[in-house]
Amino acid sequence: MPADPPLLLIAALFVAAAAGWLFGRYRSGNGTAATAEEKHKLSEEYFRGLSYVLEEEPDKALEVFLRMVDVDNDTVETHFALGNLYRRRGEVERAIRVHESIIARPSLSDEHRLHAMFALAEDYFRAGLFDRAERSFLQLADGGGRHVPALRYLLRIYEQQRDWEQAIAVHRRLVTVASPEQPTAIAHYHCELAEQMRAKGDFSGAREQLHFAREAQRNFPRGALIRSDLALDMNEPELAALLCQRIVELHPRLLALALPRVMRAMKDSDAGEIERRFRAWIRPDPVARAELAYAAIVAGLEQESFVRDCLPDLLREDPTLGEIVSATSGDPAHLSGEQCAALATALGRILRRTQRYRCVDCGFASAAHFWQCPGCRSWDAFAPVALLDLTPGMHRR
Ligand SMILES: [Zn+2]
Repeated sequence: MPADPPLLLIAALFVAAAAGWLFGRYRSGNGTAATAEEKHKLSEEYFRGLSYVLEEEPDKALEVFLRMVDVDNDTVETHFALGNLYRRRGEVERAIRVHESIIARPSLSDEHRLHAMFALAEDYFRAGLFDRAERSFLQLADGGGRHVPALRYLLRIYEQQRDWEQAIAVHRRLVTVASPEQPTAIAHYHCELAEQMRAKGDFSGAREQLHFAREAQRNFPRGALIRSDLALDMNEPELAALLCQRIVELHPRLLALALPRVMRAMKDSDAGEIERRFRAWIRPDPVARAELAYAAIVAGLEQESFVRDCLPDLLREDPTLGEIVSATSGDPAHLSGEQCAALATALGRILRRTQRYRCVDCGFASAAHFWQCPGCRSWDAFAPVALLDLTPGMHRR
């Protein structure tokens, strides 16, 4: 017998169909008992189908199965099971054939038709046929019992296509009927539009989108980061630096994203001014100093002098790294300025060669920061990985 699960299911259904035939369950199209000729034809189909199963010819077996086993209220669930099995295995074309054959039956109940339309739309989505999936889910979103999952699929399609206007419209529809899976998503959609407008030089359009993002989500750090970018674009470095400082106070895990903006804001400042600016950031707390040094290295700022100053704290906070340094260079607290600079450069080099951010929901790792995880679609799930990835828990949200 074949080991292929869908083929085994078809084989089981052929057996069930044969039992129906043997017990006279099969009837002609007008509902009367099947004639001897019809029964003969059925038996031929049955043996042909079964031989395709045994020869492991899935397409031919499926073709005979779809022709032979009528979709009615007794058999429709097994058709759905077969279609879903194909989709789960990535055999989407076959899943589409099964679900299309269900929809083609005129005698189907409304509930089963709705189920089949939804399953077919899922097949299209899985196959990457987004135009067809969008049309089907839009139809399903208008009514019936599947409108909430249809709206959720539409969100996924518009997110993948980066069609943020449509995503906003669907999110607004969704909140009127159900809780969105990711409530902050709409604020991100407005931020995406703000970034597009900023890239085109439309600063007032970008600010309007940031206003909508704030309306959707108070204290939204991504919006404040884009606002600081706009301040830099409009030559308002002091405002940009203050916005970044506020972001870090409220959301310390975004330090690595805020720091490069602060450095851009202070590009014309001398060392004394930079030190004064960071005095507020470089608190005596060794944990905070270690986090600042680490975030700066993640952000590629390892050459800055404040990183050198905070590095001994980072070495003390990271026992593994501290041990390595103690074994090779002595007590981390007494490293020379040159040793700290060389160490910061080496750590920066290591981090550049590795994945610096990881999704806390699914573990997807990347050298770049993403607001939406490419692996699991979670928003705001990316955090810097622990240094050398040997200190679990550090810097994770
Ligand atoms: Zn993820």
